[in-house]
Amino acid sequence: MAFPAKATHQQTRAHNAALVLRALYDHGPISRADVARLTGLTRTTVGDVVGGLMGEGLAHEIGRGPSTGGKAPILLEVVDASRDVIGIDLGEFVFRAALLDLRGRVQRTVEREVGGLDGKRSIEVVHELVAELIAARRSGTAGLLGIGVGTPGIVDADTGTIRWAVNLEWHNLRLGELLAERYGVPVRVANDSRAAALALVTFSRPRPQNLVAIKVGRGIGAGLVIGSELFHGDGFGAGEIGHTVVDIDGSECRCGRFGCLETVASSRAIVTAALAAAREEPDSVLADRISPAGELTLEDVRAALDAGDASALRVVARAGRYLGQVIAGLIGVLDIERIVLHGSVSRLGRPWLDAVRDEARQQSLQLLSQDVSIELAPAIGDLVVMGASALLLTDELGLAVA
Ligand SMILES: [Zn+2]
Repeated sequence: MAFPAKATHQQTRAHNAALVLRALYDHGPISRADVARLTGLTRTTVGDVVGGLMGEGLAHEIGRGPSTGGKAPILLEVVDASRDVIGIDLGEFVFRAALLDLRGRVQRTVEREVGGLDGKRSIEVVHELVAELIAARRSGTAGLLGIGVGTPGIVDADTGTIRWAVNLEWHNLRLGELLAERYGVPVRVANDSRAAALALVTFSRPRPQNLVAIKVGRGIGAGLVIGSELFHGDGFGAGEIGHTVVDIDGSECRCGRFGCLETVASSRAIVTAALAAAREEPDSVLADRISPAGELTLEDVRAALDAGDASALRVVARAGRYLGQVIAGLIGVLDIERIVLHGSVSRLGRPWLDAVRDEARQQSLQLLSQDVSIELAPAIGDLVVMGASALLLTDELGLAVA
């Protein structure tokens, strides 16, 4: 939270309220005295702020804790169900919207398949999903903190403008403004990979200080958390690793250039390579799984891997190595030890993960890479939807940092 040189009384109150709420959120159940110790605020100020939070229904007393000699202290915690948030994942094939509580727990989900829809119709689908969730709340938009959206592409997170989303044909779409005008609640929009990284910071305990979370699906993008804060970059493109050229003789990418990471390591690249490999080896498990229409899915590749199919393993390992090569670059630039992988391709599991790890280690300085952990994301839920909701927790309550 940035402060002008002289904070007004109101700003100080808001700042103190955010500090106290964050202490309750991260450390509750907790006594007022411990909140004062954690925040550096006086006990009188903490008492006042807690009174305010209880008045708003955001915090409550849950009884007395163990005594440490004197009178047992009254413990407080955040009322997780006191507010909710709509989180939306504008995925490649499915738009998913959910109502979540303050812990990112999903209360209700609605979704629509959007494969093949044009940009205009896609916006209508977003409106339908939001309207459906608001209608399901008995109180309309009362108690709704706002709407958070995670979308592929480059997003100006300050204005909620999607500058470029290749799969949806969206250019400079002011989605944040559109939704805010229509529903009269705060709206935040961020790139989906960044939203997922924010989910991991907000809802994991202990909160990681530094983290790279890489979404590997049809697109590939990284969310960077540095010093517990989401790093957007100067032009909101931090972590856009999917369109880094890794194969100078490579095939054409949907961005119009050739040999981008997405052309060799995305879900589509893997399926395309698997199909070519299967045709070369008609006796393979992969070849067996080709559909009557001549197609394979990522699930088929996974099944072939499980069956120990050598050509599937080669295809997946190659895709993993390209990703590992780009991760080695990130390790060299950022020296971040915790790297988390998620997205549809991560379902390929161990053979893919091993290839990513091996290549990342081989291509970076041993001194840096020896302490790096590259893991699949913990199964805490739909990371993009949760991260989209966390955007609002940050802005409206100061519960996370973005
Ligand atoms: Zn590209």
